[in-house]
Amino acid sequence: AKAQGRNRSQFFTREINDSLAQRLQMEQALRQALANDELSLNYQPQYRLSDGALIGCEVLLRWHSAELGPVGPDRFVPLAEETGMIGAIGHWVLRSACLQAALWRAQGLEIPVAVNVSACQLTPGLVNEVAGALAETRLPAGLLTLELTETVLMQRQDETRALLHELRALGVGLAMDDFGTGYSSLAYLKRFPIDKLKIDRAFVHGLPADGDGCAIIRAVLEVARHLGLATVAEGIETPEQHAFLNGIGCEEGQGYLFARPLPVDAMTDLLLAARAQ
Ligand code: C2E
Ligand code: CA
Ligand code: CA
Ligand code: CA
Repeated sequence: AKAQGRNRSQFFTREINDSLAQRLQMEQALRQALANDELSLNYQPQYRLSDGALIGCEVLLRWHSAELGPVGPDRFVPLAEETGMIGAIGHWVLRSACLQAALWRAQGLEIPVAVNVSACQLTPGLVNEVAGALAETRLPAGLLTLELTETVLMQRQDETRALLHELRALGVGLAMDDFGTGYSSLAYLKRFPIDKLKIDRAFVHGLPADGDGCAIIRAVLEVARHLGLATVAEGIETPEQHAFLNGIGCEEGQGYLFARPLPVDAMTDLLLAARAQ
C-alpha cells in the first residue's frame, strides 16, 4: 500500500510539473507574441433579430504561436491577466480594433465594433487609453462599445462607477458581457451606466426546450426593458433559438447560425455584400 501511495504521489507530482512547465512555456511564448506579430483580430457579425440587418461586430483576439500553434483566448487571456501582460495586449487590441473600424468607415463600410475589456484593464488609465485610440484613429466614439464582465461591478464599486461614467462621457457604449453567469444582483445594473446586456450563451444553448433557460432569459429581457437597456443574445446556433429569442423581444444576436468570428478580409467581404443589398 505504501509503494502504491508513493507511485500515486509521483504520478501527481509529474502531472503538476508538466502543467507548470506548460504554463511557463506558454507564458514565455506569450511575452514574444506582440513583438513577433502573432496576435490578430477576428470579427463576429451581430444582427438585428427582427430583420437580419447587420448592425455591428464583436472583436475577438486570436493568437497563432510559432511555437505552440493556435491557442484560444479562453486559455491565454487568463494567463495574460495573471501576469499583467493584458495591459499591453489589451492596448494593442483596442488600437487595432479602432484602426480597423476607421479603415472600414473610410471605405464607406461604417460598422460599430465591440471590444472585450478585462477587469484588470479597468484602471483610471483606461479613459486616456480609449480617448487616445479614438483620437489617433479618428474613429467617432459612437462606433466603439466596450464589453465588460459582471465581476468588474463587484470590485471597488465607487471607483468603478466613476470610471464607467468617464468612459460614457467619451461617447463609447458599455455592454455587460456574459450576463447571468456572475454573482452580481440585478440591483447592480441600476447603479452603473450600462447601455446593453449580453445574454450568455449558456442560457441560449438549451432553447427553446430548456424551461429554466427560457425563464432566465425572459426575466433578463424584462429587467432590461425596465432599465432601458438593449439586449444581445450570444451563441445562437439554430433557427429555433433565433425565432424564440426574436419572439420574446430580444433585439440583437450573434452566433454560428449567422456567422463565425471572421478574419478581417472575410469581414470586409461581408460588409461589402451587405452594402450592395
Ligand atoms: P466572449 O466575450 O463571451 O466571446 C464569445 C465567445 O463565444 C467567442 O469565443 C466566440 O467565438 C464564441 N461564439 C460565438 N458564437 C458562438 C456560437 O454560436 N456557439 C458557440 N459555441 N460559441 C460561439 P472566443 O473567440 O474563443 O473567445 C473566448 C473568450 O475570450 C471571450 O468570451 C472573451 O471573454 C475572451 N476574449 C476574446 N478576445 C478578447 C480580447 O480581445 N480581450 C479580452 N480581455 N478577452 C477576450
Ligand atoms: Ca464578449
Ligand atoms: Ca460573452
Ligand atoms: Ca464568455
